[in-house]
Amino acid sequence: MSYDRVRGMYDILPDEIPWWRLAEEAVREIARRCHYHEVRFPVVEPTELFSRGIGESTDVVTKEMYTFPDRKGRSLTLRPEGTASVARLYLTHGLAAKAPFQKLFYLGPMFRYEKPQKGRNRQFHQYGIEVLGVLDPVVDAEVIGFAWSLMEHLGLGGLRLRLNSIGCSEDRATYREILREFFAPSADRMCADCRRRLLENPLRILDCKEEICQPLIAGAPGSMDSLCPECAGHFAAVRQWLDRLGLRYDIDPRLVRGLDYYTRTVFELVSSDLGAQDTLLGGGRYDDLIEMLGGPPTPGIGFAGGFERLVLALQERGCKPPIERLDLYLVPFGDEGRRAGLALAGTLRKRGVSVDLDVRGRSLRKQLEAANEMNARHVLVLGDEEARTGRGKVKEMDTGVERESSLDVDALITVLGG
Ligand SMILES: [Zn+2]
Ligand SMILES: [Zn+2]
Repeated sequence: MSYDRVRGMYDILPDEIPWWRLAEEAVREIARRCHYHEVRFPVVEPTELFSRGIGESTDVVTKEMYTFPDRKGRSLTLRPEGTASVARLYLTHGLAAKAPFQKLFYLGPMFRYEKPQKGRNRQFHQYGIEVLGVLDPVVDAEVIGFAWSLMEHLGLGGLRLRLNSIGCSEDRATYREILREFFAPSADRMCADCRRRLLENPLRILDCKEEICQPLIAGAPGSMDSLCPECAGHFAAVRQWLDRLGLRYDIDPRLVRGLDYYTRTVFELVSSDLGAQDTLLGGGRYDDLIEMLGGPPTPGIGFAGGFERLVLALQERGCKPPIERLDLYLVPFGDEGRRAGLALAGTLRKRGVSVDLDVRGRSLRKQLEAANEMNARHVLVLGDEEARTGRGKVKEMDTGVERESSLDVDALITVLGG
């Protein structure tokens, strides 16, 4: 019997990790600069949080959630995204009363039962930011600015920000009816999902990826004509702030995003480095979500992006993350050499030096080959002779230069540093 991994879920091996760390550290660094605080929330939540928060008719809820009963028969779901959980966390800890204005960020795995394809996995990893408690349009611009800063920090190019407003819940109701009237006569030329969406929520038709639906979608009316004066004013102000900050954007009047909680500003950042799978991150306002989940009226805005796509984009761009090199590879041989080697490795490690050494009792030749392969910066051969005299030769592998040194820790650290 052998085990294979679950379809659509992947292992990440050591040679891939440098790109992941680069991407994760970039998110943390921009969060630090912009003063966002990290939150961590469970991987499982009550199913209802997502069905109510994300929307009963969305693809995520109808087709993509990992939902299961626990041993007491309660329905649980592996989190398919982070925003609903952050909203739940905000309510669970009474932040609306204690500290209503919050700038939060998170990193972690999410789960969706989607058709696996390049850059889209069933366990995928997201980073996201959320700003809760402020409706001012300047916050929309600040959140979008975070997204730009992150991509610039990582050196990604070919970026385009797609921006739209879908208005408040009344505006969306108006827009839904306009779309229903527009799509109804063509129902027989749409995919089966879209015929269902036509009845449940015609907004979702605009997200359809089926070839057959694209010509119809391209001709559909945009959402901006349905905005009430207040939402139109908000959107105008968002654009003004983006202009002031020098952040480029393209208005995409049919951008609606796939989840029901979105209101007003929605956006996506796309990269030409990714080809067809081009969305790096997406987000928007969700001014009704907290209230929908039983809290007081609390505006919110945020975005989430996938690490898989970010890593892919970095690799496509030929980005080379710094490889961490071993400071010293010790080559001990002989009884005394091996004893001294293990003790020396321990002392150096305590002082912050990265040290590895052979633990399989291999021949001197095999050990030296290993030192070359692991790309260590220095090698020190430690035989009985060196152990007795307390002196040895440290070889710098890049130059081949050998330096004689005392095996005293301070002396060695000086040699390794130089
Ligand atoms: Zn409105
Ligand atoms: Zn369709």
